[in-house]
Amino acid sequence: MIHAVLTIDDVASRNTPAIVDYLNAKGIHAILFAVGRHVEKYPEQAVYALQHGMIIGNHSYSHPAFSKLTKEEGADEIERCETVLDALYRRAGTERRFRPFRFPYGDKGGNNKAFLQQYLAQRGFHKVKDTQIEAAWWKEQGLDRDIDTLWTFDFAEYNIRQGSGFTLDDVWKRIEDRHPANGSPLLEENSHHILLLHAHDETEALVPEYYRRFIDALLEKGVRFEKPAFREAEG
Ligand SMILES: [Zn+2]
Repeated sequence: MIHAVLTIDDVASRNTPAIVDYLNAKGIHAILFAVGRHVEKYPEQAVYALQHGMIIGNHSYSHPAFSKLTKEEGADEIERCETVLDALYRRAGTERRFRPFRFPYGDKGGNNKAFLQQYLAQRGFHKVKDTQIEAAWWKEQGLDRDIDTLWTFDFAEYNIRQGSGFTLDDVWKRIEDRHPANGSPLLEENSHHILLLHAHDETEALVPEYYRRFIDALLEKGVRFEKPAFREAEG
């Protein structure tokens, strides 16, 4: 059995409701990591996701690389997105029980990493439960102790762009890759994963319903999608 928690970044977008409908049809619970200004641009789509059972986490306000920010700017990016998400949950009429966080690009802030981790802990962000992830690199990099949520497998489908040279075939190769340069091999028996997909209208335009293609294929290969669980906040 291959176990996976699905995360979808850069929400909201025009295609967010269609992704949510698909996930619900398959009985898959996901964490959607939202960019504050994307939620401001597509509020209806974000409300739809909350009212249809998804958890929305903080992915910063404007999607910067945190290693290029000062401590104050980093904290401000987190807080501005918090303000947007608190208002969004109120508007949707759903209780905000969990506050997961993901850094844009998985960039944990360089020299400010320790400060930002402490900040996330003190502000009561919830770590996605990852004790089931046994990959050695996960612990070697200290990811089991960090409050933010990284991933073990990245579909990298956001690279599919006109003229990029990265195609759907490259995503299939990543799915099948037994020795990936980073992350863990997806199809390793008895492995546990946090999967990274994106809600990008640009991908939708080139590969309609890309999310359905990938997730249907994983389901066929016996991947079991699990409901996200969280560690208690420490703050
Ligand atoms: Zn992102």
